[in-house]
Amino acid sequence: MHAKKRLAVFGSTGSIGTQALDVVRSHPGIFEVAILTAQTNDELLLQQALEFKPALVVIGDESKYAKLKSALASTTITVASGEAALEDAAALDSYDVMLAAIVGFAGLKPTLKAVENGKMIALANKETLVVAGDVVMQKAFENKSPILPVDSEHSAIFQCLVGEARNPIEKIILTASGGPFLGKKPNFLVNVKRDHALQHPNWTMGAKITIDSATLMNKGLEMIEAKWLFNLQPSQVEVVIHPQSIVHSLVQFADGSIKAQMGLPDMKLPIQYALGFPNRLKNDFPRFNFRNYPNLTFEEPDYKTFRNLALATEALEQGGNMPCILNAANEIAVWAFLKNRIGFLDITAVVEKTMQKINFIAKPTLEEYFDSDGEARNFAASMMKL
Ligand code: NAD
Ligand code: MG
Repeated sequence: MHAKKRLAVFGSTGSIGTQALDVVRSHPGIFEVAILTAQTNDELLLQQALEFKPALVVIGDESKYAKLKSALASTTITVASGEAALEDAAALDSYDVMLAAIVGFAGLKPTLKAVENGKMIALANKETLVVAGDVVMQKAFENKSPILPVDSEHSAIFQCLVGEARNPIEKIILTASGGPFLGKKPNFLVNVKRDHALQHPNWTMGAKITIDSATLMNKGLEMIEAKWLFNLQPSQVEVVIHPQSIVHSLVQFADGSIKAQMGLPDMKLPIQYALGFPNRLKNDFPRFNFRNYPNLTFEEPDYKTFRNLALATEALEQGGNMPCILNAANEIAVWAFLKNRIGFLDITAVVEKTMQKINFIAKPTLEEYFDSDGEARNFAASMMKL
């Protein structure tokens, strides 16, 4: 084992990626950066490369390669580009932990490569488990590749489970803030525009997950993510709305006792916990104070208004390729919404119709997951005349 943990930050220019580099910056004696990757933001990637001096950077967008390469010409940093280069990077031996912080289906292939490479994965990219959870978990088991959650809810559950290895889980309760439109009804949501939906009350995140939080699809994806991470039955996964985002999730055991993990909403905490595991690293993040939060409240989600949560629950229960179909349709619909091409409630309509249309496969192979993803994307796009 190296003196320092060598990190491969996949998606280093995003919301999770940049916060992870903040954590690295505060703990120079513990972490070093071996690999950084980004899709389009070559300028930020360059800046990060000059600061953290990884051995390798990968820029997904090949049109940015020449510029990045020449900007780093006077350094020893290797520059690579394209989708295949991401997988090649994940297959290297030169790192210890992959932070999987690419957004969407695009994160699946590099993460799978890292799993096959037996690396520890700090998983932010929930879509990886939503799309092909059984394949990913099976490969992780075979290759002894630990998957540590970064998603705050799953980190909370993971933290509650420390010391409980012999105690079966009765159920888990995922908390959801409810997003910016908590309490609103369809007659309001029908007119919601992109910029309003991008304003989350408690968390600052990338655009896609911010929209998913507003539609509650994010919580649906997290139910599916939790099923795979903690080996649960669909009936063991519950959701409760908790607008203050202080209780990050809960686990109920066989004796009815419930453990919760709490803290201010700050993604740096779960990122740091995953990267530093099993140690808790000292930091100076603001501390929670009960005086500022006299009321922590909990309520049932409104499944009728936020139908994405009902659709995701359905996909969770059906299993097979249904979560993959749901995810693909949602990615396309959210993209269209962000481009002002469809309305807020259309996102749900697109997901629902795509789930009805694409052939159900009960036990897909990895190739069949890729095919289902492609078919669902094409169908969803054609429906929206994209
Ligand atoms: P983001 O959009 O801010 O960043 C995404 C990163 O992925 C960027 O570095 C981008 O360059 C890269 N990327 C985008 N498309 C790519 C592609 N096709 N190929 C390769 N790289 C690509 O997203 P984010 O908010 O940081 O979220 C990242 C992941 O973490 C998502 O799966 C999200 O659900 C999950 N997550 C995020 C948060 C949060 O607070 N932001 C919380 C929990 C989970
Ligand atoms: Mg979350």
